[in-house]
Amino acid sequence: MERDLEQLNSALNSVKILRSNVRRVFESVSNGLRADHGDDGKESKYILELQELLTTVNNNLRDVENSMSNLTPPPGPFSLGNTTYLSQETTQERQALYGQLVNTYKWTDKIREYSALAGNILAANSFNKTYKTFSTTKRRKTQTSNHNVPPEVIENLITSIDRLFPDVTITTNSPFVPNPVIQGRVLKAIIAFKGLMIEWVVVKAHAESNDLWTESRYKVFRKVTENCHAAMCHFYSPMMPELAVRSFLHWFHSYNTLFSAPCKRCANHLHNNLPPTWRDLRNLEPYHEECK
Ligand SMILES: [Zn+2]
Repeated sequence: MERDLEQLNSALNSVKILRSNVRRVFESVSNGLRADHGDDGKESKYILELQELLTTVNNNLRDVENSMSNLTPPPGPFSLGNTTYLSQETTQERQALYGQLVNTYKWTDKIREYSALAGNILAANSFNKTYKTFSTTKRRKTQTSNHNVPPEVIENLITSIDRLFPDVTITTNSPFVPNPVIQGRVLKAIIAFKGLMIEWVVVKAHAESNDLWTESRYKVFRKVTENCHAAMCHFYSPMMPELAVRSFLHWFHSYNTLFSAPCKRCANHLHNNLPPTWRDLRNLEPYHEECK
């Protein structure tokens, strides 16, 4: 590659020299006899000058031919795909598109390179956040994009999770944007998915609306919502999004005992008039906000 470039450079250079010397020949021809040829035998002097110039051009041409023969021709025509049609563009403002296209291509190429590097670094420093109990062969499947998945994939995931927890009902209200509503014994959660990843969670009382944008009017559910956001970030795993969702829901399932389980630390049900609103991320044990 390096050698090819060097040869290409020297070939281009010899073409440049040839062009400049050919230009000198034409200059001399167009000027004809000049004053500096003097009076004696000016014709022969002029012809001599022209001969010299032509010899130089001849030598330059040989150089070009030599350097050309050193070059390796490309294996076939370059496939530019649809971009070839851009050369046929006639409107002024679109003619600059090709340059932009090339720049964009370089950008994406760089992004790919950098993200591959980042991916390697992150993979080397991974730490285990998700529960091993859900390990299936499915999670080994690498996904190219977790943001843009067909709704059926999300629906399938939700149905499979629904089967895992018989005491919880999961309903999806919209066919296009599946924001499933998860109803446990004591509360319900509305979850917004972005692709296969959980983007937002709101926990409310059963009587409240399924609106994603308003928070619950009960302090206890607002506190649980807050803790859900923390857990959502904790379980977030772009490499294994399905496992992340399952782990999150496994954790969330422990809120079924929100009003019945005492705090693991102080053994009380209430502290500051609130039940234990925190669930440990590893062993799912209940704690008060102040006791965790
Ligand atoms: Zn406590």
